Amino acid sequence: MQKKLLLSLCLAASVLLSSCGAEETSRNGPLSRRYYHYFDTVSTVYCYGSASDEEFGKNVDEISTILEKYHIFFDIYHEYSGVTNLCTINKNAGGEPLAVDPELFDFLRLCIGLYDETDGKMNVMMGSVLSLWHDCRQEASGHPENASIPSDERLAEAAKHTDITLLELDESNLTVRISDPLASIDVGAVGKGYAAERAADYLRTAEGGENYVLDIGGNLRIMGAKPDGSPYRAAVKDPMNPDGAAAAVLSLEDVSCVTSGVYERYFTVDGRSYHHIIDPDTLYPSERFLSVTVVARDSGSADALSTALFCMSLEEGMALAGERGDFQALWITPDGRLHMTDGLVMAQ
Ligand code: ADP
Ligand code: MG
Repeated sequence: MQKKLLLSLCLAASVLLSSCGAEETSRNGPLSRRYYHYFDTVSTVYCYGSASDEEFGKNVDEISTILEKYHIFFDIYHEYSGVTNLCTINKNAGGEPLAVDPELFDFLRLCIGLYDETDGKMNVMMGSVLSLWHDCRQEASGHPENASIPSDERLAEAAKHTDITLLELDESNLTVRISDPLASIDVGAVGKGYAAERAADYLRTAEGGENYVLDIGGNLRIMGAKPDGSPYRAAVKDPMNPDGAAAAVLSLEDVSCVTSGVYERYFTVDGRSYHHIIDPDTLYPSERFLSVTVVARDSGSADALSTALFCMSLEEGMALAGERGDFQALWITPDGRLHMTDGLVMAQ
């Protein structure tokens, strides 16, 4: 009997495990390989198909190389020798244009497009504001007694350096420049999904590349259907009890499924919780939803949209889904109610 797959959409974040780098392969269930080194989270590749051990080994090595490449490109905290990454670009803000790898250039071009598509709700040039919240979260995790939130003055000052046009791309020379020395880029809202899609691109033409499921830090990329032709089942966590029963179980085939939730990364000040998705209009964590799940073919779009929808009203998000027609979404509001687009398919 075919075992039912219930994939968790959790961000299996574990900074503690990040140095382990363990690998797992077994034939009791699907073949799988887990990575701890990329995007400050845990990622797992599953193969439900009939790839040989050798094919699977080659494919997961290749996927590891792809994830590592984008991990390095997107790292805003470290530079790497021989690579111009986002950390280099941020440090160079206000300076001369920097030549970048065409793959990083393509990604940055896409980020500008996603800003336009989401009416600025997903803005990768919000680095100055996001870093204030990030620093408070870090401080709160090390020293909860010192936990505080950024002052409104500092947030307002930082927000003056978030215009998307500060990111200058020169198409003919493939150079990048941030024109304002106080501005910076942060692609946390879209990077993992984009990298997952690049891994999916690879699998599409790889030997033994059928029937894979990629869980890149909770961003699911489901390649095709199960080997028996039936769809996969994916659980959407209950944001109020993430370790308990699922809030919904979705039926998914050849799509990505990405959730942004208040329970993923947050800190507490005076009994109040502050999560990691920042509304560009208020400069505070968006209080509209407990989680937003997006199902779309392209994993980068799904990732960007999950963050963007979090920062718009339900009506605006529903309207965007209707206009575009290329994604479905599930919103969980603070009262615990579920709202969804008509095309979302629940598992039986
Ligand atoms: P996850 O961390 O689970 O992947 P998201 O995809 O929603 O969650 O991305 C959240 C991250 O995106 C934050 O940690 C921050 O780096 C960045 N971010 C938060 N709010 C915004 C926003 N409005 N626009 C762009 N990036 C954002
Ligand atoms: Mg996102």
